[in-house]
Amino acid sequence: MDRQQEHILQTIQEKDVRYIRLWFTDVIGTLKSVAIAPAELEEAFDEGIGFDGSSIEGLARVVEADMLAYPDASTFQILPGQSSASQVARLFCDISTRDGEPARSDPRSVLRRALARASDMGFTFYTHPEIEFYLFHPTSDPYEEFRPIDRAGYFDHSARSAGLDFRREAVATLEAMNIPVEFSHHEAGPGQNEIDLRFTDALSMADSIMAFRTVIQELALSQGSFASFMPKPLIDHPGSGMHTHMSLFEGDRNVFFDPSGTYFLSTTARRFMAGLLEHANAISAITNQHVNSYKRLWAGDEAPSYICWGHNNRSALVRVPALRAGKARAARIEYRAIDSAANPYLAFAVLLNAGLDGIERELELPDEAIEDVTSLTRNERRALGIGSLPGNLDQALVAMQESELVAQTLGEEAFSYFIRNKESEWTAYRNQVTPFERDRFLPVV
Ligand code: GLN
Ligand code: MG
Ligand code: MG
Ligand code: MG
Repeated sequence: MDRQQEHILQTIQEKDVRYIRLWFTDVIGTLKSVAIAPAELEEAFDEGIGFDGSSIEGLARVVEADMLAYPDASTFQILPGQSSASQVARLFCDISTRDGEPARSDPRSVLRRALARASDMGFTFYTHPEIEFYLFHPTSDPYEEFRPIDRAGYFDHSARSAGLDFRREAVATLEAMNIPVEFSHHEAGPGQNEIDLRFTDALSMADSIMAFRTVIQELALSQGSFASFMPKPLIDHPGSGMHTHMSLFEGDRNVFFDPSGTYFLSTTARRFMAGLLEHANAISAITNQHVNSYKRLWAGDEAPSYICWGHNNRSALVRVPALRAGKARAARIEYRAIDSAANPYLAFAVLLNAGLDGIERELELPDEAIEDVTSLTRNERRALGIGSLPGNLDQALVAMQESELVAQTLGEEAFSYFIRNKESEWTAYRNQVTPFERDRFLPVV
């Protein structure tokens, strides 16, 4: 045991923690939890906790089912809001095989591998997400449209809206869990909210996003509503994106910043962006993993459909936010396709590797898109060299399957599991006969 682990055992005694949740994430991005008694933690640090990995989506094949979960001491957190008689703590885990090898399909290990590559190049990868989600009245009827809890719109204060109280409590709970919030507001859709997290290294952020989803869902339930991270839950209102801001640091220096560069961006940042544009199609099935994701991309206000970059251009896939001169630390780029239902570990890993590939191959950034690219005709876009994101999950999977970069990032196991899982989602979806189609064929009376 190291000093950090010893310190945790001591804290558990002092704070009288009675229950410890060990968290990890499957390949699709579902949070998994196994609880242990505090007395088991020391052994868990040393020897891991055994479990049957074959029952977890994508983690292991049946023949190599036995896996070990090792709690990562740096993620220890006492969970707020529990009764003081029974404090609960959680730790995220790294999964390994019985031979002590990191499980290659553990999403945390996929991201760790990408981060190690960045680190070999001298970089730390920082991200901050703008997480959008809806609050709906509870329902269990999938045939009815979801009913938002309010009718407010973008930045509305609406003093009597339930959303206002919800956000205040959500932010307080997140802060109590050491997840610093930068910004929160009502979004454009009724019942739609956005909470932006303060930037951290990508692994901590992916953990924070997993915790975030749980906190938001639990809080909504406790207030009599339900929170949905579905990318496009309502036909007539915007979808929920998870625009992600990214930068690379060398030690304390933000290498995306150049005081003399266009929009204060360095050549490194431009190449990183070029890499994102180059691989946008191939990584789409990871950043936008559901059949529903493509309804947001193609019919969601201010969600990108075309592969281009711009400055303060909200139709662009990659945006360079305005930056005040001198704010070197804040120089960053924003990837706008990714949605709130993505597995954050896998998504950050493919985004990072796409950008690093641009740096390594010294890819040239095309001209920026000045106008609203959605208002251009197909031919005008073609003349400008602006391609389209996949139109649906099937097209995204075809692009992913041809991508060496995604295959290498995910590793063989996670890659083939993901493709299989998503192909069956697509097939199940394609077999549906929807109200829309029945409506088209109703007799006219
Ligand atoms: N909801 C939009 C999306 O899906 C984003 C709107 C915004 O934050 N400007 O990407
Ligand atoms: Mg925002
Ligand atoms: Mg927003
Ligand atoms: Mg944004």
